[in-house]
Amino acid sequence: MKNRSALKFLLVVVVPLFLTGGGVVALTMDLLDRLSTGANVEDHRRTAEVVASALDASQQQLADLLFDNTNWDAAAINLSAPEVNFEFFEASWGIPSAIGINYDVAAAVDKNGETIMGMAGGNVLTANMNDYLGGHLLALLAELPSNNTQPRTTSAIVKTSDGTAIIAVGNVAPTTQGLDLGTNEPRFLVMAKLMTNEFIAQLGEKFVVKNMRLLPKDLSASGGLAITNRFGESVGELTWDDRRPGDSTRELIQPTVFITLSVLMAVLTAIAFVCWWQFRDIGERERKSNFEARHDALTGLLNRAAIVAETDAALAENFCGVCVLFIDLDGFKVVNDTYDHRTGDHLLYSFAAMLRTLTPADALVSRIGGDEFVVLFRGVNATVQAETAASKIIDFLQMPFDFDGRIASIGASIGIAAAADPEIRAAELLRRADIAMYRAKSDGKNRCCVFTKSMDADRGETLEIVSELRAIVACKEIDVAYQPIVDAFSRKMTGVEALARWPGGTGREVGPERFIAEAETAGIVNQLGETILERACTDAKKWADLRVAINISPLQLRDPEFVSRTLSIIDRIGLAHGRIELEITEGTLIDDIARLKPVFVTLRSAGISLALDDFGAGYSSIAYLRELPFDRIKIDRSLTSAILVSGSARHMIQATGLIARGIGAEVTAEGVEAEEEIQILKLAGCAKLQGYLFGKPQDANSITRALKLSTAAIVAA
Ligand code: C2E
Ligand code: MG
Ligand code: MG
Repeated sequence: MKNRSALKFLLVVVVPLFLTGGGVVALTMDLLDRLSTGANVEDHRRTAEVVASALDASQQQLADLLFDNTNWDAAAINLSAPEVNFEFFEASWGIPSAIGINYDVAAAVDKNGETIMGMAGGNVLTANMNDYLGGHLLALLAELPSNNTQPRTTSAIVKTSDGTAIIAVGNVAPTTQGLDLGTNEPRFLVMAKLMTNEFIAQLGEKFVVKNMRLLPKDLSASGGLAITNRFGESVGELTWDDRRPGDSTRELIQPTVFITLSVLMAVLTAIAFVCWWQFRDIGERERKSNFEARHDALTGLLNRAAIVAETDAALAENFCGVCVLFIDLDGFKVVNDTYDHRTGDHLLYSFAAMLRTLTPADALVSRIGGDEFVVLFRGVNATVQAETAASKIIDFLQMPFDFDGRIASIGASIGIAAAADPEIRAAELLRRADIAMYRAKSDGKNRCCVFTKSMDADRGETLEIVSELRAIVACKEIDVAYQPIVDAFSRKMTGVEALARWPGGTGREVGPERFIAEAETAGIVNQLGETILERACTDAKKWADLRVAINISPLQLRDPEFVSRTLSIIDRIGLAHGRIELEITEGTLIDDIARLKPVFVTLRSAGISLALDDFGAGYSSIAYLRELPFDRIKIDRSLTSAILVSGSARHMIQATGLIARGIGAEVTAEGVEAEEEIQILKLAGCAKLQGYLFGKPQDANSITRALKLSTAAIVAA
């Protein structure tokens, strides 16, 4: 995950950033290179032009000089004479050729190129001029007028016997018209300036071309100025040392560019770093919010959305091996209400940690609501694993949690649903597990149920019952039946137990245990309880001296206003407190002792009696009896009905009698159905008896009638 985001960062930020940076660097370097090369090339081209111009100028200079020498009366007279005067020739051209400033060779030739007189470097030149000039003289002479009246010059660069030279040739013509020249044969003057290294160097200096030199054609390299004579022959190449202004410019700019690029790269690196931090931060936040989106903040387990998604994914992969466990904690609310929310949170956290250890490592554990957990099992053994985990969880919760002396006893109602068809989706599977859990709850809690199709119908019925129950509670239409409680010795009815009944005429029959549990789940048990109390008190007012026992749900006891509301109902109806007894089921007290004590004390001091109901049905704790001021213990029907067949049941009842005596309480035996039981119960200390033997739960009128009958019987007696 981390590597993937690092790669993403690399691709999205670092690579583009450094590509851009690298691109800028490369482009800048290329631009610098192009600029400097361009400047160098341009300068070279211009220098080549200068060199070519210098060469042209040298040629022109020699041609101009030659023109001055040929267009001269004295030269015309001397050179046209049948015998050329040597002194004149030497003085005019021989000596300058020796100085070699303007030319090195000067010769007078006839129209056939024959040398009439010539001097080179101050010495007499005897060689045939045409040969000396590489055979090009005749071609040049052909360009000139073959007379002595129209002076003209021509020039060229040729290879001479002494090396490459600039030559100029012109016909000799006097400036004075009609001058007697002796002969009319045309005469030509040739001048040659050898392109020696010295000459080239001077030329270079003059035209500011560094280290200009002439390379022979076989040594010539590209880049210089190739010199081709007018006859199409290559005579060499003029080369020089380029100034390369681009290089110097480059050297000048380069440090600045380098610093700028370094700063740019540093800035880019800094940007990359900042981006990395940001990215890491964003990545961290993203990871955190992803985690938060999928996890429950309190326990760190997966949340509802995540487990639904995981279940859907597992179903899509292979529906056969998917099974979910739906856990609802029994008694969690008690802990939350009894202690504080911190203890409740602590309990949830501890339970979550425990869930992880009790389930296989590959099971996915989630908390989907307050005290609801879902575990997803995948694989061929999913259902077996789920059942095993369920029993481990239930076993584990047998032991109460201890948070710094705060004891929290909870149980778990667990539903299991396995995927049975390919069409099923997570929502449906969880719904089924929820229904199975609900069945486990209504079957007595702290157990596990596996979903079956029939539960769906039951669930539908339950929902109907709950909705009808809401209407019944709202209209206070609940019925109350009264079961007689008789004195064990006189068998006289001394009291009744009020038992809630589903009203007739609704088309269904629902037992009190069921609808009271539904009222508890639906959060309407307080109103229901108050309605029953109101009805029972109202009915009891008709029966002088008869005590009325009213069952109280443990959830009612948790209502902080329970005592005040109960007393105000009783007082409003005007029933003597001493005629009322509240029955609280033993199993529901759990760890509420400390909180219940003041409730009990207040009720008792108000004259209301308290009975511990269903004693012996669940696990009994003597602590309840010691800590809470009970006036009565009601032996559970399951124990009473066993006394004729079970010795231990008899012993238990006897022990209950002793305990009751110890705490100053009376004992009532419930569920008395046989005459034979009465003797044993009396011997065990049961002062009151209740059961079908003395009367089934019946309506208030029946009790009124029974009372009247017994009064009549007494009167008759
Ligand atoms: P409980 O308080 O222990 O009530 C006694 C139950 O035992 C009653 O069942 C009664 O009909 C039944 N019973 C009494 N004698 C005999 C007998 O000889 N044989 C047999 N087979 N049964 C006998 P019922 O009315 O179905 O009530 C069941 C439970 O529902 C009650 O047990 C009580 O826990 C609860 N309950 C009933 N009415 C109320 C109520 O108004 N409020 C609350 N919170 N719970 C109630
Ligand atoms: Mg009862
Ligand atoms: Mg009972």
